[in-house]
Amino acid sequence: MFIDKYFESKKPVLSFEIFPPKQDMPFDSIMSATQALSALQPDFISITYGAGGSTHRNTLEVAEMIKQRHNIDALAHLTCVTNTPEDIDNILDDLEQRGIYNILAMRGDLPDGAPEPPQPIFAKHLIEQIEKRKKFFIAAAAYPEGHTQANNLEEDVIHLGEKVSAGAKLLITQIFFDNNLLYNFQELLYKHNIKAHLSAGIMPVSNAKQILRIIKLCGASVPERLSKLLSRYGERPDLLELAGVEYASRQIEDLIKNNIDGVHIYTMNKPNLASSIVKNVGLR
Ligand code: FAD
Repeated sequence: MFIDKYFESKKPVLSFEIFPPKQDMPFDSIMSATQALSALQPDFISITYGAGGSTHRNTLEVAEMIKQRHNIDALAHLTCVTNTPEDIDNILDDLEQRGIYNILAMRGDLPDGAPEPPQPIFAKHLIEQIEKRKKFFIAAAAYPEGHTQANNLEEDVIHLGEKVSAGAKLLITQIFFDNNLLYNFQELLYKHNIKAHLSAGIMPVSNAKQILRIIKLCGASVPERLSKLLSRYGERPDLLELAGVEYASRQIEDLIKNNIDGVHIYTMNKPNLASSIVKNVGLR
């Protein structure tokens, strides 16, 4: 089933993001995490994909398990930077066989040391290839502060428009910690006549080292309020987790007041964080 049916019938659509186990690692902990997340009745769960190929099969396995065992729609992430069009075709065949028809299509990042492709590859090329089959609902990644490699936010938004023209109907954002960044981004989408459902990616902060590493990689800015929390509770993970859940809950409440289409929680495979937020905000 295509997940756009949720966006057409309710606001906000609630989704969770998880990552699959690394290749050859046991499935026990992901099975218990998906069980607990399913109990929160999200509209769909998305499963990340290692651009280096390390989790490729497990992304598909976990997506299928979520559908079969928990009867929840799965959105499988897929990247093209290290896959040839033939590889992609094989993965699309596999997804079809497993009954997974929702894809978050991205370029991905080259693993360290991997050779540059002869020609630049962008997510829109993957979206065009998937769209040709006329079998899948396609989502794309969006960056409220601009992608780290973009010259500026507006140029990035223009490229985002190319992904929507190629067939993406849902945009899921990278993490951000200041809702004004998202509202500004929505204005830009409007200005460039980019029409797609928008789901706000929210990450509850629970581990100072981990969040600082993620922020460095993705270029999200850190408002003073968050920075204070990190320095106050950086050495107290139990307190930081409580403060992080509170911060994310207030962000989501404000987004809902402002009529956001969807809320996408980066769960880091920790159902307790998602559960506390869902309860705080009264989402279920
Ligand atoms: P693109 O949309 O192709 O954009 C990449 C860069 O190229 C941008 O700077 C853009 O402005 C620029 N660009 C695009 N088109 C053109 C053009 N025609 N000419 C010039 N420049 C252009 N990564 C993973 O490996 N696995 C995951 O599971 C994963 N999940 C994610 C989920 C979400 C919600 C988000 C926001 C990101 C996720 N990522 C994931 C990270 C993502 O792969 C990286 O951010 C990657 O660097 C960009 O992918 P993209 O699809 O946004 O690229």
